[in-house]
Amino acid sequence: MERKACYEIDAADRVVRVDDGFAELAAGYGHPTLADDALGRPLLEFVAGDRPRELQCALMTRARAAAPEPLELRYRCDAPEMRRYGVLQLHGRADGSLVFTTWFEATEDRPYQALLDPEAPRDADSTVELCAWCNRFGGDEGWHEAEAVIAASDARPPAVEHGLCEICELLLTTRPGAEPKWSGPFGRP
Ligand SMILES: [Zn+2]
Repeated sequence: MERKACYEIDAADRVVRVDDGFAELAAGYGHPTLADDALGRPLLEFVAGDRPRELQCALMTRARAAAPEPLELRYRCDAPEMRRYGVLQLHGRADGSLVFTTWFEATEDRPYQALLDPEAPRDADSTVELCAWCNRFGGDEGWHEAEAVIAASDARPPAVEHGLCEICELLLTTRPGAEPKWSGPFGRP
């Protein structure tokens, strides 16, 4: 069983609690002080990209409307050498607070992808959009996994902008009412 990470926001969307699993995850991403720094600050400060931020707001509204039933969403949170299939559970409470719990339900090794490596030097003259939810990259020819966008040997991949693909937006925002509870590009129908 994968380790879970948990954090909580109050009715005003400020981070009020993070657990050890969250601190470990943040440290793994190279942000060892994030768990302490996040407390008291608006959650949306930590969501990169305008459209992912808008979606986050919509999902928080949806989760509060669904309370006390949890909303459970699928997403990808890839590492340069691993596909990681994540689950995010949003649990609304009567006081308007929301508890976020996340874990990886599956991981797959892959050849190293510089495009997914925050440490990799970038080509200053080009950018590519990354869907924050399915981790596919967008371009003129649709949305594709990192492997299909640039050659793995490309030493300077384009800079990444955080966005949202049409499929994820559709799946995450247009399901009627609070049903079904599961959604996202890798979710159950
Ligand atoms: Zn997507």
